[in-house]
Amino acid sequence: MTAFVMDENNGPVPAAKQHCVARAPESEAELPKINGATPVKPISNGTYTNGTHTNGTTKEHDHRTQDPFKLAKDFACTPRRIKVFTIGAGFSGLLMAHKFQHRFSEMEEIVDHTILEAHHEVGGTWLVNNYPGVQCDVPAHIYAFPFDPNPEWTRFYASGAEILEYFKKTVKKWNLDRDLQLNTKVVGAIWHDSEGMWEVELENTRTEEKRKEWCHVLVSGQGVLV
Ligand SMILES: Cc1cc2nc3c(=O)[nH]c(=O)nc-3n(C[C@H](O)[C@H](O)[C@H](O)COP(=O)(O)OP(=O)(O)OC[C@H]3O[C@@H](n4cnc5c(N)ncnc54)[C@H](O)[C@@H]3O)c2cc1C
Repeated sequence: MTAFVMDENNGPVPAAKQHCVARAPESEAELPKINGATPVKPISNGTYTNGTHTNGTTKEHDHRTQDPFKLAKDFACTPRRIKVFTIGAGFSGLLMAHKFQHRFSEMEEIVDHTILEAHHEVGGTWLVNNYPGVQCDVPAHIYAFPFDPNPEWTRFYASGAEILEYFKKTVKKWNLDRDLQLNTKVVGAIWHDSEGMWEVELENTRTEEKRKEWCHVLVSGQGVLV
């Protein structure tokens, strides 16, 4: 989307003169011309007269405007929050949550984070793989969240159940499930170049209901074993 910046002489302001002050054009005379042609009319359905819709609404309040320029509604340089979806609530997804919430806490102001997890609970590999004797194959003291080492392991190679217990405890302690949506499976994602966003298709794994949501950044923490 593009926001045009106009100066007092009704012309586009050169980039060098722009100081993050912008407003939408208020009249046809202010609209930029393409290859010297007649300015594109702000309203393509022809229902506006003197800036007012025939139904009485004003330009500012009518979102049905079909302006081919698609002028941005926000001022240029308006800060925006970035919507981030992370797929999976195993170690990868919850490390991501820790980074946004604690490690780089300044990200709180600019990121809206959502973790989408198909299962009913956190844990990923350690939730799903619960067969008898399942255990970590590296020493437990190096198999932990780096921000919360665990001196309490009962065995050199921790069992799957003990890892899952540690995992859940740590998630609660650091509030890492704050942005978590359980029973939510990502079943499709399409990148839209024109919007600069992902259209993500989600399925509620309990009701099988589908819905679509949009995000700027899609992070895969899907793992390979679940
Ligand atoms: C028996 C066993 C021993 C292991 N031992 C070790 C070891 O010693 N050292 C080691 O480093 N690793 C080991 N691993 C590997 C282990 O998988 C990783 O260490 C780690 O748990 C992977 O974490 P993850 O978050 O990347 O993926 P996972 O734990 O697999 O989590 C992925 C999550 O994403 C969710 N998900 C997937 N697709 C979707 C979707 N489309 N929509 C929504 N949610 C989705 C899944 O439900 C899951 O919860 C072991 C694994 C097993 C099974």
